[in-house]
Amino acid sequence: MFSVKEAHIDFATIPDRALPIVDGQELKVVSDTWFENNHPGSEQITVNYVECNRQDVDAAVSAARRSFDDGRWASLSPMTRKTILLDLADKIEAAADKIGLMDCVEMGRPISHAVSDARFLSAGILRYHAEGIDKLYGTVAPSCAASHVIQSWVPCGVVAAITPWNFPSVNAMVKIAPALAMGNSCVLKPSETASLSALCIAELALEAGVPEGVLNVLTGSGKSGQMLAEHPDVDMIAFTGSTETGRSLLASAGVGTLKRTLLECGGKSPQIVFADMEEMDIDLLAARLLADIMWNSGQVCVAKSRLIIQQSLHDKLKGRLVRALDDYKLADPLLLETQLGPLGLVSQQEKVNSIIADAVASGAEAVVSSTAFPSRGCYVPPTLLFDVAPESRAVREEIFGPVLTVQAFDTAEDAISMANLTETGLAASVWTKDVVIAHQLGNRIRAGDVTIHGTLQEVEGAGFAGIGEPMKSSGFGTETGIAGLQSYAIRKSVSFSFG
Ligand code: NDP
Repeated sequence: MFSVKEAHIDFATIPDRALPIVDGQELKVVSDTWFENNHPGSEQITVNYVECNRQDVDAAVSAARRSFDDGRWASLSPMTRKTILLDLADKIEAAADKIGLMDCVEMGRPISHAVSDARFLSAGILRYHAEGIDKLYGTVAPSCAASHVIQSWVPCGVVAAITPWNFPSVNAMVKIAPALAMGNSCVLKPSETASLSALCIAELALEAGVPEGVLNVLTGSGKSGQMLAEHPDVDMIAFTGSTETGRSLLASAGVGTLKRTLLECGGKSPQIVFADMEEMDIDLLAARLLADIMWNSGQVCVAKSRLIIQQSLHDKLKGRLVRALDDYKLADPLLLETQLGPLGLVSQQEKVNSIIADAVASGAEAVVSSTAFPSRGCYVPPTLLFDVAPESRAVREEIFGPVLTVQAFDTAEDAISMANLTETGLAASVWTKDVVIAHQLGNRIRAGDVTIHGTLQEVEGAGFAGIGEPMKSSGFGTETGIAGLQSYAIRKSVSFSFG
């Protein structure tokens, strides 16, 4: 499911410049400031975007406001909205090669994974939420005979969706799908690092019959994002990105109007391995532990970037991890066989290298994969950091790269304290055969998603039904699933009095 074997790569589908889509067409932008986005691999591919200014943001929010207020989308029957969104999902699946190439070119996601993201995840997330439209019932509240109280889910209004670059089309769809399904109008501001796939999805939405003005996409940096978030005609902010930006958005949400806010922020997730796992195939265990950090080169909010091993198993597992590290081959993301590509941008490469250098300077042992890789591009080889100081940046900060810190613990209480040490609380995994310890850690680790004896990707059947809510500085609110639809709606009560 996470990679495809074939894809039609057509570079003619990558424009060298792209404009925002507002009110069903390319925006006649007021801003004359442009910026370049360069491919992080070794090829020279550049896309030029406009940095939307206040007037451009106003135009997008006004279009969304008009389209919401006149009911051209919100007042369609649930069945009509569902049919249109299912058609859009089919169009996204049919265009998966093109959308995948856009994400590959812009942020370096290996092409086989990027196409798979569009074909299975983006289209699948949309289908799941479209199917939910006519299954989300309201309620009739208990009341006396002289009254009747109906509660129903109504859209929030204009949603400002702000997304990061690590899974461009999927991050966009996680917001667009529930927002549109519930009848909202949306202004999306994707990352300046990767906006093409969101613009492509907006064009496909028009072809599928989503009315003009219902899905608008702006281009630009965090400044445009902030103008959008502070806009008084926005009713809700739905954000995925760093904790730092999440903090600033909480302030933006209070500017002018009070906006409902959904924040999905960063993580620093642990994987805890107890000594009883020694009975398992240790090579297989090492491979699975590494897979949980190397996925998308570690540029994943739920990347399990801190490995915490019970002391008596530490040295044995260390040897196997070091051996398994060389299975990861860095290569050009435009090649179909590539499983691990460059990081998304130069600044990310510099940050990751500086965190590794700091850890080594403070006494950590770095084991680096011996994989060869292209001389040009934002490549960082997979790295293990042993004996790393608990207070080091490598242990405390979200690295967002192919780097795994390895620490040892003695007792289950130590493991819980180490797991809960960080400011964020997104995910964790616990590897033990002892069901009592598993249950205890599952309850006491402060993270929204705790996986016992496995990885998040492996939890068959979870589908798009939704993951847990983030805890601590990882944000708040539910995304995906039926509860995710409710996040984009208001529970409204209408009471009839017959007295
Ligand atoms: P950022 O927080 O830097 O950016 C996210 C989005 O916010 C981008 O579109 C960015 O624009 C925009 N932005 C930046 N500053 C502001 C501002 N002041 N007001 C409004 N918008 C702003 O995150 P990254 O793009 O670097 O993404 C990586 C982060 O995302 C990691 O921390 C990762 O953990 C997190 N993430 C969380 C997920 C989750 O579900 N919890 C899933 C995926 C990623 P621009 O990029 O153009 O500057």
